[in-house]
Amino acid sequence: MNRIHLLPGREKSLLRRHPWIFDGAVKEKNADIRSGETVLVCDAKERILASGAWSPASQLRIRVWSFDPQEEINREFFRRRIARAVKLRETLGLLLPDGGCRLIYSESDFLPGVIVDYYAGFAAVQFLSAGAELWRQTIVDELIALPFIRGVFERSDATVRKKEALPSRNGHLAGETLPPGIIINENGMLFETDLQQGQKTGFYFDLRTAREKIRSIAKGKRVLNMFSYTGGFAVAALSGGAVSVINADSSAPALAQCEKNLRLNGFEGNFQNICGDVFQLLRKFADAGEKFDLVILDPPKLIPNKSAVMRGCRAYQDLARLGFKLLDRNGMLCNFSCSGAMGVELFQKITADATLEAGVEASIIARLEQSPDHPTLLSVPETFYLNGLLSLCRG
Ligand code: SAH
Repeated sequence: MNRIHLLPGREKSLLRRHPWIFDGAVKEKNADIRSGETVLVCDAKERILASGAWSPASQLRIRVWSFDPQEEINREFFRRRIARAVKLRETLGLLLPDGGCRLIYSESDFLPGVIVDYYAGFAAVQFLSAGAELWRQTIVDELIALPFIRGVFERSDATVRKKEALPSRNGHLAGETLPPGIIINENGMLFETDLQQGQKTGFYFDLRTAREKIRSIAKGKRVLNMFSYTGGFAVAALSGGAVSVINADSSAPALAQCEKNLRLNGFEGNFQNICGDVFQLLRKFADAGEKFDLVILDPPKLIPNKSAVMRGCRAYQDLARLGFKLLDRNGMLCNFSCSGAMGVELFQKITADATLEAGVEASIIARLEQSPDHPTLLSVPETFYLNGLLSLCRG
């Protein structure tokens, strides 16, 4: 097996069991090694520290598979890692025949570059690194061998594959072919999902705990659900007794699915869907003097990279300010950031600054984060990305 050496002192993060090795830390960074191939990683003193997958096209040159250099990277390795991920979801009570959850969350499940979402018997898979790509067939074989999976579908059409020089792929991989719309049951709420065309793999399982929270506080409220996508929060709010929900998103197909989902859950006449730009719509609502009891703001990642931090923070703050301004007495704002570069403290500061700009006083009544099927691995803080605050305006 190829040995790759780290420059002196560059083994520190590895010793803390962090699985990323950037090209700048590697002596043989231009080594002629096949994309995805397993290499042994040594420190400058020739001590073998880990094995990992070689990504020749990416700045993230090696992703560690195992910190035990004796552990062979083969079919059994992937079987063990998949079993470990499955076990967590079973322990969490999330693996129900008609339910859905994230089954494998990349580094958090010790499988860098591998994402698997479970939809009522079907697996939607993303291979996002050279190593994951090389072991694609093995991983698919192991997934279809799981007793609760009937079919495997590939959604390797995420833009991050470009960083690894991997082509975009979307299609059937194994077992039964997908039915046109898969319906999953989440705590009694039904969601039809388009696994072939929907965003990511189709549904935001990371918002599961946030949906529960929204359902628990929605009673009697007029809700404005911005960046609604396929209506996860809309169904949650109406299930919790909200009197009305206005959804807005810039994607017409997402809103069509949102409407279907609301009807699927028996809601009729108490919602309105608007296709448009949320930043403009919030201003329009304010100009019209509209008021709401709960405003939900769940934008896409507004800080896509480090150079966009300032601009992204300003956008999050604008949204929160506009949201706070639309609240009636004792109204609540629920704002999110799914930008990995946004820390918990910074998000709270931005939200606090927004209250000052909006001229309101508000208290945090709940802190929200990604659901436990997207666990934060303590040794890899980058696996945490979803911040949410539920704030109550003090009348
Ligand atoms: N809250 C959703 C997930 C939101 S994902 C849920 O519960 O499932 C972010 C959504 O924002 C996407 O559906 C995307 O189409 C939409 N979007 C992105 N930019 C937008 C904009 N400027 N105005 C309105 N919608 C936007």
